[in-house]
Amino acid sequence: MVISSKKTVKSIPVVALRGSVVFPNTEAVLNFGRPKSKLAVGAAFGGDRLLAVFAQKDARISSPGKEDLYEIGTLVTVQEIMPTEDETHVLAQGVARVRLVNMELEDPYLIGEVEEVPVILSGSDRESALVNQIIELFRKAINLGKPLEPTQMVMRIVSGTLNNPVEAVNQIASLLEIRTTEKQSLLEEKDFVKMVEKVYEYLSQEINILELERSIQAKTEKRFQEQMRKAMLRERKRTIEEELGEEETDDDMSELRKKIEAAGMPKEIEDKARKELDRLVQMSPHNPEGGYLRNYLDWLVEMPWSVTSPNNVQIKHASKILDEDHFGLGKAKERILEFLAVMKVKHDKEIAKKSKGTKNQKQDGIHEPVNPTILCFIGPPGVGKTSIGKSIARALGRKFVRVSLGGIRDEAEIRGHRRTYVGALPGRIIQGIKNAGTKNPVFMLDEIDKIGTDFRGDPSSALLEALDPEQNREFSDHYLEVPFDLSQVMFICTGNVLDTIPHALRDRLEIIRFPGYTQEEKFNIAKKFLWPKQLEAHGLSNKIEMIPTSLNEIIRRYTREAGVRNLERDIATVCRKIARKVADGKDAVKQVALPQIHEYLGPQRFSSLLAERRDEIGMSTGLAVTAAGGEILFVEVALMPGKGKLTLTGQLGDVMQESAKAAFSFARSHWAELGLSPDFARDIDVHIHVPEGAVPKDGPSAGTAITTALISALTKIPVHREVGMTGEVTLRGRVLEIGGIKEKVIAAHTAGLKTIILPKDNKKDLEDVPDKIQKEVKFIFASVVDDVLKVALTKPLHKKELIEDSPMEPAYLAAS
Ligand code: ADP
Repeated sequence: MVISSKKTVKSIPVVALRGSVVFPNTEAVLNFGRPKSKLAVGAAFGGDRLLAVFAQKDARISSPGKEDLYEIGTLVTVQEIMPTEDETHVLAQGVARVRLVNMELEDPYLIGEVEEVPVILSGSDRESALVNQIIELFRKAINLGKPLEPTQMVMRIVSGTLNNPVEAVNQIASLLEIRTTEKQSLLEEKDFVKMVEKVYEYLSQEINILELERSIQAKTEKRFQEQMRKAMLRERKRTIEEELGEEETDDDMSELRKKIEAAGMPKEIEDKARKELDRLVQMSPHNPEGGYLRNYLDWLVEMPWSVTSPNNVQIKHASKILDEDHFGLGKAKERILEFLAVMKVKHDKEIAKKSKGTKNQKQDGIHEPVNPTILCFIGPPGVGKTSIGKSIARALGRKFVRVSLGGIRDEAEIRGHRRTYVGALPGRIIQGIKNAGTKNPVFMLDEIDKIGTDFRGDPSSALLEALDPEQNREFSDHYLEVPFDLSQVMFICTGNVLDTIPHALRDRLEIIRFPGYTQEEKFNIAKKFLWPKQLEAHGLSNKIEMIPTSLNEIIRRYTREAGVRNLERDIATVCRKIARKVADGKDAVKQVALPQIHEYLGPQRFSSLLAERRDEIGMSTGLAVTAAGGEILFVEVALMPGKGKLTLTGQLGDVMQESAKAAFSFARSHWAELGLSPDFARDIDVHIHVPEGAVPKDGPSAGTAITTALISALTKIPVHREVGMTGEVTLRGRVLEIGGIKEKVIAAHTAGLKTIILPKDNKKDLEDVPDKIQKEVKFIFASVVDDVLKVALTKPLHKKELIEDSPMEPAYLAAS
């Protein structure tokens, strides 16, 4: 239906539109709720389907008259109507632009006189060029993700098959994201070129926004996806709160502010926290830095700035607790108590000083450091280092935290990463303090012997700063940025060996050694502590008895260790099996005897090391200390025809290799005393091997064992199987003092050795060795290799006179 000429005037039903404008040549879905509108639509649909729609100037007016409507509107045909309960949906097709000349009737619905206002085309080049540009822009907008429905009309514009410029421009105008008044002014535009210009402008703006959105999206998505998500969720939450009419609360922020007040921070730090919080509050929720800052503030408020456990050291009480929790360890306990006593004296002195001081001296930071040195427990695994640390905390009524330093190479692990790093966190010290929740916990730093150094900085120097009472009042963590006072923390380091602890650090440590337990000690620990503890842990009656022979069987045949970790594990296994029986309703177990041990733990894991050995040529027994405690090791030497070459195998460290070379040189230069020929080495190769588990071994103390095995091989005199030895050997054959006597002696005794040869200068160390072992083992003290050989070899050497031209036969032949 087309209105043929400009002057045509028609009386047709009229409907007022709220908040929308329909353009000619476009399809629109209109929803009418007002009764008058519904009637008008009904009348049109029932008649020639023509309807005139005019936008309301003010959408709030419910029953508008002529003057409430814009003068220019659109003639539409009603294609379809769909009445629902409260609205009528209409599919309308815009036909022409019309002017409302007169309103003929207002009730029961509007009927007006309308005349067409046709669009006048100039047909100029500029006009068609502009139209082409608009179509181009429209395509671009769609590519940038302009939200619209891909109707047929849209497809035709995009594909360039719509040749009518007016239709295209109207269609595009109807899809612009602009206000109703702006759309209305486009509809009213008399001059087509001007309308096109305006559409061009709006479309360009829209494209700018779309491009901006896209670039923001691309950038932010890549870099800050997570933060954006959080920010958007927060924003959405705020919107929801707004929608629900809830007062916009900054709960989070005010909570954080309260926490800052309650954290008890030193003044400057509190000021800093406040400043950062203000920054956070002002930050746009889309700013990714907000997330970091929030995290940072959480750390600040959660640090125990002024939370301490009461500091009341009672030495007697502490001593009682240490004894309650541990068997034996007399020396270690004594040293610990001495240490605590010094701590107490210092603390009391400080209190006295404080109460004497004037009020303004009483601020933080005046008291002296409480602990001058740091305790360090050195010993193999399972000897009770950690558990005694826990006992100390219990005795002092303080919190206990434990942090492992094993494998740390990066300074930042100790001191934290700077906040600017993504995922930055404070270092392990500050993390530990936060976990403890107090500023004076007992803080155990495990595996201090396993920290390394590389290009990322030296963790040990950072550690030193944390431990050093001179510096740790203001320990600075890179992440926290503000100093934290560690001076009241009681640090205890632990490690397996002393050698690998960096020197600077070692100087500050008060070393307490945990040398490992004898079988008797293990027996008592198991009987008095581990067995009752595991019974309880497995919910078993404490009446179940572990027969002493059973316990000894576990100690001797199922474990071989300096500590009691595996012993505890095996006892736990036994308890588990018993618990299983109880659960199955079997007869209650009252006793654990030998057969049960074999049943529960399976076949014996270790046989006696020496039982099946004979006195052998070229094989000696040495004593060593490794990270796992004292150990016995066998040195084997094999000779073969060759050219005097020395081969070493068995994962030997540099020092041990040197010991082997020194032993070889010793033998070559002392050929006469050893009963060898002067050039015995000319036609033989020597192979020295130290078997057992491919564990790396090092240290000078295998010197006597290597020398003995070598000389035994060269002279063909066997070595006593029950003799163990340790000591460094010089080229001249002197035997030098070495360390770790207690550990070595315990291991030798456990292995069943009857005689132990030690360097003479180590005599003093026997003091540490339990009396029982001293009674059961014979100790020989050697100052030269000869002293060792006299005891270790089963026969005396055939010493040779120094004869200038002795026969040049190979020594190993000569000696036999
Ligand atoms: P470490 O820290 O030296 O590796 P742990 O402290 O973890 O060893 O000790 C292992 C287990 O052995 C713990 O259950 C501990 O209670 C127990 N233990 C070690 N030594 C003793 C002891 N002297 N008395 C009682 N229990 C002990």
